Amino acid sequence: MSVLIFIDHADGHIKKASLEALTYGAAVAKQLGVPAAGLLLGTVQDDLAALGKYGISTIHQANNEAFNHLDAQVYSKAIAEAVTTTGATVLVFSHNQTGKAVAPRVAARLKAGVVTGAVALPDTASGFVVKKSVFSAKAFAKVNITSAIKVVSLNPNSFKIEAGEGTATINQLAITPAAGAVKVTAVNKVSGEVPLTEAEVIVSGGRGLKGPENWGLLEDLARPLHAALACSRPVADSHWRPHHEHVGQTGVQVAPNLYIAVGISGAIQHLAGVNRSKVIVVINKDPEAPFFKAADYGIVGDAFEILPKLTEEIKKI
Ligand code: FAD
Repeated sequence: MSVLIFIDHADGHIKKASLEALTYGAAVAKQLGVPAAGLLLGTVQDDLAALGKYGISTIHQANNEAFNHLDAQVYSKAIAEAVTTTGATVLVFSHNQTGKAVAPRVAARLKAGVVTGAVALPDTASGFVVKKSVFSAKAFAKVNITSAIKVVSLNPNSFKIEAGEGTATINQLAITPAAGAVKVTAVNKVSGEVPLTEAEVIVSGGRGLKGPENWGLLEDLARPLHAALACSRPVADSHWRPHHEHVGQTGVQVAPNLYIAVGISGAIQHLAGVNRSKVIVVINKDPEAPFFKAADYGIVGDAFEILPKLTEEIKKI
């Protein structure tokens, strides 16, 4: 028995969500009294051995550059093979875009039970009971995985990254990438931006900002906070902002430490994508705006007056 944690990466670097998954997987292994190992497909510039500080003893690597672009079918076949080779019984993913695409496919290949979007360590005293958020994080469900191999994906930002001492041993796995049914022909990067799903702080704008020409006010606030920009759906639908910035039920689901919503009413479909944020700040001129009910801090007032003042104050910190 062992726990295997999938290490996701992009542009040669390990994603922050994977550090959470490693810490979580190591904690699951400790609970079960079994070793924890990481699994990396492809190559990264980061020091793999240093990942031992998150509590894992070994990194299994399939060191083939063909794995550097995500192909869910190719990945799931390779990961299933790695599980069989290493004899892992618990497989942990981050519930990010990669985990969402790959974890269920791997589970199907291994005939394993899968719980996606876990928010806490499993209760191993009464089986392998995993708590997960459901109904757009409006409720929680507890699911017991009874299969021999168990697959869990962890909601980003729901488990604290903890680093201690230690280095991991690197073990090369001879896994040949399968021929994919799709081929990546080009990758268009949106440069200079923090990816929304990895962002610690998000500054988000809605229709209350009146038009795309006013987004400079949000950019001014986002810069000193090193924040990513987001928007409500009508803003993206009106082409004020690109669609990859649209958050909510039908957009990106985010869980930053701080979500600042400016001129957004707080419709249930918007909240569905942001209500896992640790702290929500709402700026809205309507004191009855529904978003205030979900807010930790609220400012009632005109965004065009508040934003410059807020930005100036934040720059002083
Ligand atoms: P509005 O509802 O127009 O609100 C604008 C807000 O700005 C108001 O609260 C107003 O008081 C405030 N305001 C105006 N002027 C100022 C000012 N000067 N200063 C400060 N505040 C000001 N929406 C999403 O966002 N994400 C989704 O994923 C999503 N999915 C959907 C799926 C379905 C099936 C459906 C039916 C809808 C979905 N929607 C989604 C749309 C959602 O229902 C709302 O219509 C939308 O979120 C409203 O966007 P908004 O808050 O920017 O605009």
